[in-house]
Amino acid sequence: MSRRIHARRTEGVDKNVWVEFTQLAADYKAVNLGQGFPDFSPPKFVQEAFCDAVNGGPQMHQYTRAFGHPRLVQSLATFFSRVTGHEIDPLEDVLVTVGAYQALFCAFQALIDEGDEVIIVEPFFDCYQPMVKMVGGKEVYVPLRPKVEGSLSSADWTLSAEELASKFTPRTKAIVINTPNNPLGKVYKTEELQMIADLCIKHDVLCISDEVYEWLTYDGNKHVKIASLPGMWERTITIGSGGKTFSATGWKVGWVISSGHIIKHMKTIFQNCVYHCPTAAQEAVARGFEREYELFGSPESYFQQLPAMLHHRRGKLASCLQSVGLQPIMPEGGYFMIADISSVKVDFNDDSTKDESYDYRFVKWLTKEKGLATIPVSAFYSPEHGKEFDKYVRFCFVKEEATLDAAEQILRKWSQGKLNV
Ligand code: PMP
Ligand code: GLN
Repeated sequence: MSRRIHARRTEGVDKNVWVEFTQLAADYKAVNLGQGFPDFSPPKFVQEAFCDAVNGGPQMHQYTRAFGHPRLVQSLATFFSRVTGHEIDPLEDVLVTVGAYQALFCAFQALIDEGDEVIIVEPFFDCYQPMVKMVGGKEVYVPLRPKVEGSLSSADWTLSAEELASKFTPRTKAIVINTPNNPLGKVYKTEELQMIADLCIKHDVLCISDEVYEWLTYDGNKHVKIASLPGMWERTITIGSGGKTFSATGWKVGWVISSGHIIKHMKTIFQNCVYHCPTAAQEAVARGFEREYELFGSPESYFQQLPAMLHHRRGKLASCLQSVGLQPIMPEGGYFMIADISSVKVDFNDDSTKDESYDYRFVKWLTKEKGLATIPVSAFYSPEHGKEFDKYVRFCFVKEEATLDAAEQILRKWSQGKLNV
């Protein structure tokens, strides 16, 4: 074929950090603190729920309602009505998607026109950028910045109210926020969300709030839903993930909760692409939420148990990084930790990466030479700002103790080797 095959929207979005670094980790059989997935099983109750669903008769293997399996939209509506204090209509206000990824995709497709501006807070989960580009939107970036030099906690990273306000223009259609944040672990405080909400209301802008790590907060930090602030329900698109909620990232069940007048446009996109998310996986997530509704706030709740377990692993990873001279930024939430690598000088000795940023080179070197996979933090920034943050790499701690021990051994061996040189 001599004519151009590809559509223009595929240009400039062909690189993907997960595709590249997950393959690299596999090629080098590295201890994997890179991609964010638990290397342990989901809790028994959801595994059993999935098995029961699969054995539950013919209808569990057939199409279900397009916009969400009835039992799941009902359990999501019941659960989140309790959490938000807002009466959520299961049929109007909920859309079940193929992971949070597809929820984001449908949001951009349904709500952003060519030329619309979308404000993205950096660091951001990488897919926001290509998704905005693919609809012809214009990304406008605003970074969270550490208030203090040598910051030790994600709480030190804040948005400048003036800088954020300066990004709103008559073309701004939406802002995307992510709390708890991937990769930083920042959990936005009510005052910070209120500042964003005030700007959204003032400029009549939508807020896409990615809350896939909503149950994972530490040290008394509380996740606050921006949709629950006055005037925000009718303009907020809240996105969640069954994969993150129940440690089952491969199930790819996600959802959007929003006002019916917004959801209806997302349904239009959704019904014309995948039509629905696999039935049995939806049934299992529904049963998971029903159980969590019963146990809400009790020590048996998985939404209490998972953060308690991860709190310990977060501490373990932080001490390990500190002991080898890598300064971690303690996350208030989520399951990632970023660390400053600028104190370690490495001779990469790898011409194949010489044009890449420092963090990309470091991560490739660490994976290939030392067998430990991580993720470069500049992947979560726009090209304009990535350079300022390429002294950080991201470590994932939703891993077995044994995996964290193996990572620790690698780092210790390396740091002892450096001392002996
Ligand atoms: N948003 C954020 C912030 C994420 O880290 C991820 C990755 N899990 C997603 C969305 C996509 O979630 P899912 O796996 O449910 O598609
Ligand atoms: N959300 C996961 C992370 O941040 C991975 C997403 C993916 O692999 N595409 O690690």
